Parts: sequence; C-alpha cells; structure tokens
Amino acid sequence: MQFAGWLGMFAASTAVLAGCNGTDAADQSVAASQLAADECPSEGVALQVLGSGGPIAEAARAGTSYLLWIDGEPRLLIDAGAGSFLRFAEAGGNLATLDAILLTHLHADHAGDLAGILNSGGFEGRTDPLPVIGPDAAPRFPGTSEFLERLMSKEGGAFAYNGGYLDGTENKPLLRARDITTADGSGEASVLDISDDFSVTAHPVNHGVVPALGYVIEAGGKSVVITGDQSAASTLFAERLAATRPAILFAHHVINGEQGQPRGLHRTPSEIGELAGVMEPDQLVLTHNMNRSLSRIDDSRAAIGESYSGNISVAADLDCYPF
Ligand SMILES: [Zn+2]
Repeated sequence: MQFAGWLGMFAASTAVLAGCNGTDAADQSVAASQLAADECPSEGVALQVLGSGGPIAEAARAGTSYLLWIDGEPRLLIDAGAGSFLRFAEAGGNLATLDAILLTHLHADHAGDLAGILNSGGFEGRTDPLPVIGPDAAPRFPGTSEFLERLMSKEGGAFAYNGGYLDGTENKPLLRARDITTADGSGEASVLDISDDFSVTAHPVNHGVVPALGYVIEAGGKSVVITGDQSAASTLFAERLAATRPAILFAHHVINGEQGQPRGLHRTPSEIGELAGVMEPDQLVLTHNMNRSLSRIDDSRAAIGESYSGNISVAADLDCYPF
C-alpha cells in the first residue's frame, strides 16, 4: 500500500505545477488531498473505500468499491465500479489473497470494472476457486451468474478469451457465482460462508427495479455495514439491523437535498439519518458522493443530524477505516 503514499506525493506535486501553469489551483489542491489517502494498517481489520463516487465521471472519484483488509492482506472486494481498476492497484489489491468478490448490484458504477480487475488478476496465476456473490436477476438485469457468463463465456461472452474463469482452465481461478434472492428488498438475509476470519451477511435492499444488496461484515467482535444503493423502501433492512450498533455505517449519499432525484432509488439525507438513528453506528461515513450531493453537504449533515448525533465523515477515494 506504499503506492498510495507515492501517489499522494505525485498528485501534490502535480497540483503545484498546475498552479504555476495558471490552471485552477484550488480545484487541483482538493484533488491532491483526496488522493493522499490514509494507508490501511498492517495489523487488524479495516475497510478501505477504493471508489467514493457515483455514475457521473468526476475528478478524483472512482465508482463505488471497497476492500476489506485483515492483517495487511486484501481479503474481500465489494463492488468494482468504473474507475476502481486503478484504485485497486493503487491500494495494493490483488486477486491472489481474496476470499470472495461481493457485488451490491449490477449498475456500471458498481460493477463496470469487474472485467478489468479479473483480466489483471489472470496474470497472478491463482488457481483456487473464487466466489463471486451478488443479486439475482430482473428484467434488464442479469443475475450475477449470468452477468459473468455474458462477460466471459467461451460461447459468446464479450470477453470470451477469459472464459477460463468460468471452467477453471487456462490458469484462471474458477469463479463460483452465487445469486442472492432479493425480491425488491424483502428477500431473506443470507449468511455467506466465506472465511473463518470474518463473517458476511447479504441483506436484500430496495433500489427501485434493480435487484440489490447491502452487506454486514463482522470481524474481531465488531461490524461494519454497507448500505449499497438503497431507497427508504428498504424497511426490512432497517428493521433487521436496528440497534446493532456497528462500528461504521457506510451510507451511499446520492441525493441533493430532500427534494432531489432519484428518490425512488436512493435515500435522501434525512432518510440516511433515520437509518443511522435506528442502527446507532459509532460512525457514519458518506460515500457514493457526487458533486451535486457534495454541493449541499452542510444541508445533508443538518438533515442527518436530526436523527443521528454521532460522528459523520465524507469519504474520499482510498480512505481507510480500521474497525
Ligand atoms: Zn450507484
């Protein structure tokens, strides 16, 4: 993860040069501070935000992605949004030590770089099977297993040359796909049998017509919660996790104010606050940030603060959160 530090230094010097050249120095310095991310510790458990952004291409924010670290090893990749290919490398991620890949849903800002990350990992020589777990299918959304088939099947996949991932040949690890039943957010919670070092539960959430999941990761007696993209219709999610007091709640912060759109797909800031108020995390981290939501961040903090009085932070790419 040393590379993240090098990158921060490079970004800082780039910002200085940009200022000398008369470009917008203020914007450049913001980008530099966002990239000078904390390094995850070599001992203990941490969740790193690889990509803190959303579907709109904006400077310094990749699409959503997280990496779970245990004692300095990357163990779990959660989402692989567009741009996370580069952040995965900057963080020091590799396929070799991953126990699984989890997907919250199959929008491009959450799964768009999966093919690239797998393509890169194909050079590592890993042969142990790798679970890939995500939501089931709905109209215009393949389930997770079909998504992988469409990407890499030797029979008509977009990247058929990587079809070894689907049968464990050609020096590729076999991807073991699992589709979790979501049922618009009313499906059962599923405990995933991935590792003895940590546990993961997949929770169906409502994201409009999009099959979607949130995740709870527990390790060392503590837990973190990733909301994924979810609307306030995710009532079962809130009920099941009421008063669980996770160390950190990572909430996807998309909507600009209380009247912003698209409300049928995402929680408004006050609805994020209500979820945090019910769950009672030690810390709330806002991620999936976009320029439009950050432009009213003070309003978001105030709306959240009506229901949740704990610490609120705003994630940048590569920020690391030990827990
Ligand atoms: Zn999204």
